[in-house]
Amino acid sequence: MLRYARAGSKSVGLILLLLLAVTLAGCTGSTGPGTLSPQELSGTDGPGNPLEGAPLWRMGRDTAFLAGAGVNSASVRTLQQRVGAGFYLGGSLQYVYDRLPIYRDDLRGLDTLLLLNISTEDVTKLAAWPQRDRSLLPAALEDLVRYEPPFAYLTRQGGRVRGIVVGRTMEEIERLLAVMVERSVPLGVPWTVKPAIFAAEPASKGWTRETMERGRFRASYIPGLEADAERMLAWAEDVLGKLRAHFPEVDEVVEEPVTLWLHGAGELQDGYAYAETPSATLHFTSPSAADSRYYDHTWYVGNIAHEYSHVFFDRMRRRAGAYGMDADSGGPPRWFHEGLGEYFRLLVIGEQTFDRIYGQRYGAPVGFLLESPLEAAEDVYAAGALALRFLDARVGVEGIRRILVSSQPTFWDAVHEATGLSRPEFDQAFRDWLRRNR
Ligand SMILES: [Zn+2]
Repeated sequence: MLRYARAGSKSVGLILLLLLAVTLAGCTGSTGPGTLSPQELSGTDGPGNPLEGAPLWRMGRDTAFLAGAGVNSASVRTLQQRVGAGFYLGGSLQYVYDRLPIYRDDLRGLDTLLLLNISTEDVTKLAAWPQRDRSLLPAALEDLVRYEPPFAYLTRQGGRVRGIVVGRTMEEIERLLAVMVERSVPLGVPWTVKPAIFAAEPASKGWTRETMERGRFRASYIPGLEADAERMLAWAEDVLGKLRAHFPEVDEVVEEPVTLWLHGAGELQDGYAYAETPSATLHFTSPSAADSRYYDHTWYVGNIAHEYSHVFFDRMRRRAGAYGMDADSGGPPRWFHEGLGEYFRLLVIGEQTFDRIYGQRYGAPVGFLLESPLEAAEDVYAAGALALRFLDARVGVEGIRRILVSSQPTFWDAVHEATGLSRPEFDQAFRDWLRRNR
């Protein structure tokens, strides 16, 4: 997964700034009295109304949003600004999972709302939510599948409010959030908003997805974006052709067609792409829906290569058996996954272009890495990119390939087999290389 480039680091900075502002403000969730008009909330008629007597919560500045795919960050931010809240993390559940180690401590001290658009994000993916961060989700999440979306469910646990907002469209999610911004809402009971009934209007354009296949790839796109699908498929084939020169089995290892899922404008964060390895699906903003400040041909082919590497590596390991993907039980560390992705990008766009675009960012952690282990680096893309280039200089593509296909029981055994270096020797040789090449 990769959320990218010049804009990427700027918005991380912005988030940190906003976080700081929230911390400095030191505010607590305001629990105002507030009333709910019967027209706006369902279940308000008749006896045994589940909402009656429920404690209320009012969204405050210390509310953080965690968003899955298909949530428009711009419209959520507009709503957040009305209560002065600043924290927003998302683009996909995978993106959230990957960033939890960085923001965990901040999130624990904030109220958190998970926004889930079930048309673009599979609810079963919540099962992969990291165990140690479960407390950020409402407990008894499984019970919620009984309720018909759209709905929101918020509960107070461990002194903070943990909530989830489930909808089939961004509009449904937005409508629920808008209520939270305007008034107090019940805790401990799933609730929804029932607006008046209107006749549906004819669709201005088709909304069911279409698919187009070419070679090893399949594009899933919204009608009207056929030209984008054609373009992406051609780029993807081109990327595979370049990678095949280095990794002959690059496509045959992935047995099913790889899906390029093309998103409309505003569905993904700017400059952000990600891979769902189990389903071999790579997500991108469709080229004509993309803001050209972040996207160009080099961005697309580089990111196709990067995201493809995650699927390829996963299938390689499935085929090889032996060491698996779990870093806690002998699998590769995250810097290796992302470093391999960046190495694939480099193979496709060429060293010169790679250095011109990414040289500055990826050179940044050299000083840090001379003193600290790779696992401690905050930018796993940069640290990984450096480590893979070191491996390339030392053992070449063939050596890197040997790590990927190894039948050793752990990742570091595979590195040892391919390079002859033990872990301490690897660290030493890597630092010597960094010193020579900085
Ligand atoms: Zn990645």
